[in-house]
Amino acid sequence: MAPRGGGACKEVVESNSKYANYEIATTKAEIGSTLIKRSISLAEKNGINGVHELLQCPTCANSMYPPIHQCPNGHTLCSNCRRVHKCCPTCHSELGNIRCLALEKVAESLDFPCRYKSLGCHKLFPYYGKLKHEKHCSFRPYTCPYASSECSVTGDIPFLLAHLKEDHSVDLHDGCTFNHRYVRSNPHEVENATWMLTIFNCFGRQFCLHFEAFFLGTAPVYMTFLRFMGEESDAKRFSYNLEVGSFGRKLVWQGVPRSIRDSHRKVRDCQDGLIIPRSLALYFSSGDGQELKLRITGRIWKV
Ligand SMILES: [Zn+2]
Ligand SMILES: [Zn+2]
Ligand SMILES: [Zn+2]
Ligand SMILES: [Zn+2]
Repeated sequence: MAPRGGGACKEVVESNSKYANYEIATTKAEIGSTLIKRSISLAEKNGINGVHELLQCPTCANSMYPPIHQCPNGHTLCSNCRRVHKCCPTCHSELGNIRCLALEKVAESLDFPCRYKSLGCHKLFPYYGKLKHEKHCSFRPYTCPYASSECSVTGDIPFLLAHLKEDHSVDLHDGCTFNHRYVRSNPHEVENATWMLTIFNCFGRQFCLHFEAFFLGTAPVYMTFLRFMGEESDAKRFSYNLEVGSFGRKLVWQGVPRSIRDSHRKVRDCQDGLIIPRSLALYFSSGDGQELKLRITGRIWKV
């Protein structure tokens, strides 16, 4: 009994140990393949990051685009820095006119993420296409639509709405119709850049109603127009009208809101809005010509 039992016992032990070995082997293989996978993805990551780093100018840290230059010792630098520096900023040897064609070739063979990836653009682009795309990427931040050259704040629409309210005290109205009064005690001071901005919230989107005074040539005028807080392709889906008048006479404008990608200055220069000559504005104000009291009505609709 005992040997059988011992044998049985041995068998069990052996089979157990075989099983244990098999388990260990499987685990090792799994660990091995995971390690390989991890190291491949790390290598890929490092490779791409490495190339990204290589394509960053060591002097100004901007991305380098061909022609990429190098010093006689092989230190790379961008064409801007090449123009500025006579000697290599890294090793101080005199810069010749040596292109780094290898790096230019490597750059051309890779795809790169859009620089607005963190803002939601997940497209990949070849090296040259990337720059072109970024200029028009719909995820690039918008510039504050407030008509002042001093404000250079950028961001997405929700951020800019909060900024307009908090930093420029701009009013936000709900609804797609407007009935606004613009009053100025001294309408002859056109040269003092006048602008007023009101935001309308309708159809789940936001529109900027601008009212400005400026000289068109030598003629003082008032102008009012609408800008859309979004892309031009979406702006085209809306239309608006503006009316101003009294005594049985009125000026009417119907237009398409311009995207805030176009600066208020650009829209003004295109005269893409309702232009009211000052003499007519004063007539509509029904006063003695000393005060401007314009009532502007309008509506926004979907086309
Ligand atoms: Zn540089
Ligand atoms: Zn150098
Ligand atoms: Zn993009
Ligand atoms: Zn601003």
